[in-house]
Amino acid sequence: MHRGNFQQLLLRHVRDEVGETSIRLDQKLVTFQSHSDHVEVDFVNPSTGDRNIELAKVLIGADGINSTVRKILYPDEDRPLWRGLTVWRGVTPTEKLFLDGRTKILMGNPNELELVVYPVSSNLINWACLARTEDPDVQTSPVTVEWNNIGRVEDLLPLISNMKLAFLDINHLIQSSMIINKFPLTDRDPLPRWTHNRVTLLGDAAHPMYPNGSNGASQAILDARGLVLCFRQHGVTPQGLQAYDDLRRPVANTVVLAARQYGIEELLKIVDERAPCGFQQLSDVIPSAEFEVMMSNFKKVAGLNVQQINQEPPLF
Ligand SMILES: Cc1cc2nc3c(=O)[nH]c(=O)nc-3n(C[C@H](O)[C@H](O)[C@H](O)COP(=O)(O)OP(=O)(O)OC[C@H]3O[C@@H](n4cnc5c(N)ncnc54)[C@H](O)[C@@H]3O)c2cc1C
Repeated sequence: MHRGNFQQLLLRHVRDEVGETSIRLDQKLVTFQSHSDHVEVDFVNPSTGDRNIELAKVLIGADGINSTVRKILYPDEDRPLWRGLTVWRGVTPTEKLFLDGRTKILMGNPNELELVVYPVSSNLINWACLARTEDPDVQTSPVTVEWNNIGRVEDLLPLISNMKLAFLDINHLIQSSMIINKFPLTDRDPLPRWTHNRVTLLGDAAHPMYPNGSNGASQAILDARGLVLCFRQHGVTPQGLQAYDDLRRPVANTVVLAARQYGIEELLKIVDERAPCGFQQLSDVIPSAEFEVMMSNFKKVAGLNVQQINQEPPLF
């Protein structure tokens, strides 16, 4: 599903259930003051410059990898960490999807050059290419990570000139993209705590991670579920936020570290190392038992085991 459509669906649902005015756009958090019985949050409207102050029982900072809330809680933390991989990504309209219309392509080696392609609707193909553009020593990101930085097709095409598929013209896919974004692939070190009395972090603000294994947003969704369960048990209170921290932080921090080892994409790395000149059958390179163990190990770490998730009671 296209994430824009998913966000619209969630937006509609929240407005229907909680009320039209429950979500206000154009409100940028500038700072907050935590008091014993409430939080005072200072917003600015970036379009008009108008300021306004809201009082709340708790504040949940879900403001992404460049989180202002996190910056206030951890003022000494620098920009996100970069290990030399750069991402280009885009969305390409198409009249016909490739293969069965439900196939995800992962090709290359996540440590050097990887291409990920999959449909997100009946007429849109999402693609992302990550390439090593610097050596892997850890450094702070050279630029502020903004998802809408523009990339250039002429920088990307030479990097992937050897990537060919019989059923999909990769050059055409990339050249026909509606837009190309480019940014350094970054994460941050796990935090010792997310909850500070009446304030906590959620999603990328709490645990930005490499998207290996298709994680990131999925962990943010699990955070939200955990938060609701903790509020149900402890109320919308500092105790609820602390219970959420105890429940989710150890899991999410483990996923951050596992994603640095490429998550499920480690399979690509192993296959590339064992069969640099290609192969006929995947099982000749990586026995199916080894394949299954790797897949299920990462799903267990990430909490993405389908049977396990489906056994949990619905929230509503
Ligand atoms: C190349 C790539 C591929 C990915 N693929 C996947 C995938 O397949 N599956 C997956 O699960 N995840 C994936 N992710 C990760 C996923 O995109 C993120 O984990 C997810 O978007 C995090 O959601 P979030 O709501 O925490 O943060 P964001 O999506 O960054 O949203 C933060 C929001 O906060 C707002 N904001 C920022 N500052 C302020 C402020 N001061 N005041 C008010 N609002 C503010 C921003 O405008 C934004 O709307 C991928 C990431 C990348 C880079």
